[in-house]
Amino acid sequence: MRKITIAIDGYSSTGKSTVAKQLADYLGYVYVDSGAMYRAVTLFAMQNEIISKDNFDEEKLKNSLDSINLSFKKKEEWNKAHIFLNGEDVESQIRNLEVSEFVSPIATIHEVRVKLVAQQQKMGLEKGVVMDGRDIGTVVFPDAELKIFMNASAQERAQRRYKELLECDNSVQYSDVLKNIQERDYMDTTRADSPLLKAKDAIEIDNSEMNLEDQFHTVLQLAKDRIAGRLLY
Ligand code: C5P
Repeated sequence: MRKITIAIDGYSSTGKSTVAKQLADYLGYVYVDSGAMYRAVTLFAMQNEIISKDNFDEEKLKNSLDSINLSFKKKEEWNKAHIFLNGEDVESQIRNLEVSEFVSPIATIHEVRVKLVAQQQKMGLEKGVVMDGRDIGTVVFPDAELKIFMNASAQERAQRRYKELLECDNSVQYSDVLKNIQERDYMDTTRADSPLLKAKDAIEIDNSEMNLEDQFHTVLQLAKDRIAGRLLY
């Protein structure tokens, strides 16, 4: 069967990564979480006094990019590949609210995007990849055979994210999560370089009222149609 490239973009916490991962597993494709790469660069910036609540040293970040090495590794006991920052598994560290607060400013920096986009395009060279993010259908793989744009209300997305975060930190507040999602939506859609927007040929799915199973079946059907070369929409 021919292999295709599947780009899944959308706002924060729309469940893109869940459906992208399910789809990749089902099709035997590689799943790449591009957001994890921006988060790992953010963690590096936090650890190296490049970004904090009252400082963002953009020049230092640009000059440090050559010393940031990102890779994904898989182990059987993990449900998805983990991201490694300079050889260290940082998969769990990059998910906290502090990283989420700094990641969107980091993602506005052109040089950061150039570096990460080049690495993402390499990972997709052989097709058979499902990648999720903000600019996958517009910048990373403008020729992807299937492009999906996921959406849901900010309140619904914050509620889902809040529940996830509560599992590892019971001091987290719903209002902080909602605020973070709204701020990231704003920064991601208004930045100058590669803003989040729906590619012209992307199919939009609003999953506010959908459960995970419905969502998976909708996306899987689209993928099967595209693999078979059916272009019905
Ligand atoms: O997908 P996730 O929410 O983990 O992404 C974190 C942040 O990384 C986003 O809010 C966005 O600022 C940035 N990002 C991006 N381009 C991508 C993926 C993520 O700018 N392709």
